[in-house]
Amino acid sequence: MALSKRLRFKIFEKYNFTCQYCGRKPPEVVLEVDHVVSRKDGGLDEEMNLICSCFDCNRGKRETSLDIQKIKNQNFKKELEYLEERQQQLEAYYNFIKRKEELENEELSVFQRAWEDSSQGENSLTDHGLNEIRKLKEAYPTELVLEAIKLAWKNEKVANNEKFRYMCGILKNKQRISEDPETEEHVRIEMKKFFEGWNHYSNRSGFGPVTVDYNLKNEIAEIFKFGWSYTDIADYVKETFDFHHYDYSYQLTKLLKQDKRIYKHD
Ligand SMILES: [Zn+2]
Repeated sequence: MALSKRLRFKIFEKYNFTCQYCGRKPPEVVLEVDHVVSRKDGGLDEEMNLICSCFDCNRGKRETSLDIQKIKNQNFKKELEYLEERQQQLEAYYNFIKRKEELENEELSVFQRAWEDSSQGENSLTDHGLNEIRKLKEAYPTELVLEAIKLAWKNEKVANNEKFRYMCGILKNKQRISEDPETEEHVRIEMKKFFEGWNHYSNRSGFGPVTVDYNLKNEIAEIFKFGWSYTDIADYVKETFDFHHYDYSYQLTKLLKQDKRIYKHD
């Protein structure tokens, strides 16, 4: 049965009145509708199975040209899918960057607030200052930067326009100390991190604050004097609360002693 005129022209329009095999258009050629899968092979008179061909190509076509067209159609579909995928990814990526920027700005606002509070509301970080803080944040723990801001404003001998530079100096000094197990300051900083980690995991485990046993506290302090950092034992702290043991101090001591690394400085 012949195709309706309406369907034929729909197909021509769909393919921009262009032969899909040779690329020629009217008036150079006369167009026909071709079945991608021939009727003989069970192809239907459906739009999906119909393409625009010129008379010459349709009549003289060989199997190979049809195969090529099939591949072309597939590739076109793949290209569309690729474009859609790319567009979606671009959008997701843009949102990701935007969200990251927002989070970074929220984080930076914490430093701004600390700066303003420490200066009794008399001073604010400039855009340049905030940008520098962004860099410091990469190099030092947030807590240390916040502490340095506080200390810089505490020292009244330092002029306001020198506060930032002074604060950077404090940070460098603190970093040096925290890397030097010989100092009391090093132990103090690591102990602080230890208690923060301890509280974090005890709260997270749903037991609320769990007191650290006096012996364990001393033992941990010794470990820090030997050059261990909180990161060295953080996994043990985490594991301790995974046990849901009633005596966490005992559990942590056991875990630390189990591991031969505890003897590395003996
Ligand atoms: Zn043609």
